[in-house]
Amino acid sequence: MVRINQKPPRNEMERCPDSIVKKMAHIKLENILKRFGDFVAVRDFNLEIQDKEFVVFLGPSGCGKTTTLRLIAGLEHPEAGDIFIEGRRVNDLSPADRDIAFVFQFYALYPHLTVYDNIAFPLKAVKVSKSEIDTQVKRVAEILQISDMLGRKPSVLSGGEMQRVALGRAMVRQPKVYLLDEPMANLDAKIRVDTRAEIKRLQHDIGATTIFVTHDQVEAMSLADRIAVIHHGVLQQIGTPYEVYNRPESLFVAGFMGMPTMNLLDAELTARDGVSVLRLSHTDVYLPLSPERQATINATAQENGLVFGIRPEHITAVNQPEAQKIAADVHLVEPLGAVNILDIRLGTHPETQEPILLRVRTHPTFRVAIGDTIWLDFSETEMHLFDRKTERVVS
Ligand code: ATP
Repeated sequence: MVRINQKPPRNEMERCPDSIVKKMAHIKLENILKRFGDFVAVRDFNLEIQDKEFVVFLGPSGCGKTTTLRLIAGLEHPEAGDIFIEGRRVNDLSPADRDIAFVFQFYALYPHLTVYDNIAFPLKAVKVSKSEIDTQVKRVAEILQISDMLGRKPSVLSGGEMQRVALGRAMVRQPKVYLLDEPMANLDAKIRVDTRAEIKRLQHDIGATTIFVTHDQVEAMSLADRIAVIHHGVLQQIGTPYEVYNRPESLFVAGFMGMPTMNLLDAELTARDGVSVLRLSHTDVYLPLSPERQATINATAQENGLVFGIRPEHITAVNQPEAQKIAADVHLVEPLGAVNILDIRLGTHPETQEPILLRVRTHPTFRVAIGDTIWLDFSETEMHLFDRKTERVVS
């Protein structure tokens, strides 16, 4: 790995992948716009990624993750806006001049080369010594559990194995930036979890700025220093896994993160017994709000309409009546082993006649059946309020 006290001569430093040269890579995207014909794939995108940071681009299929990554790599060009790497504007630099290693979902291996030579290829290209290449190739092969395949050609490998070879080829290099586009898409579940842990540890050891694309929120949460949630080409929120999960800034982020996702129900401020409370629309659920919370709900949001959000794990349920708790009937019980997920019926939508449901997570020993009445308590500190029209968080 990186040898801190051993300074190779200058020409060595330039070609040795394991050198002590720590390449800095602060990345900045400023007002990026990318269109394909009339279709806007990336819109007014602003993002700063710190040196050595591990940022995950997360969002549903087609939201613009790969396009943004390709813009950074230089494989696409922005119609407007600037891209900087370490303070240098790189809009006009070719991919080869950006010192970036990328692994894409659709790996491209050299079919005539063995696995060993495929992984060694980037090192041979910069004339690293044979013994150093051997050490590096064997090291990554071990991490990726492909040591016994080094002599094989890609044509006899499975999709998951080819993906690991492509990953290995990026891992032997020490570029300024790693761009990884769903690099584990073809791996089976166990290897995926192992490789995820290795990628995280390796990135920490190497300290290279990394951008990782995925639509898998568990992968994003487990890997990222910060997650950039993208929807329809727009950066919805950038924050630590804790922040995007617990402090979503938009309805999209609130509804995208978490399994099961956050409960999101229409609500309005109303007066009850002379006190201003939040009513969940078309239900008999009235929630008291602290004066501080009420003060944050501005007139525009009230006019646009409110959406109330709470995660299933932030509702407590008991099966005996208790003062101040809300009585409701159990609509469905899903025992998942470690937890139970209950669908609770709060009312009926007057137009669609659809049940208005709330998901609650309970301990598996909490025994209830469909039709039982239970009593609920909502933690005010875990409640979220969004503006229905702008879809941004209000409070
Ligand atoms: P996925 O998770 O499915 O890979 P993504 O979030 O990475 O999706 P992109 O590949 O960035 O999405 O694509 C964003 C949108 O831009 C999609 O609707 C896609 O069809 C469109 N798009 C991407 N590349 C092109 C292209 N070369 N020409 C036309 N449309 C494109």
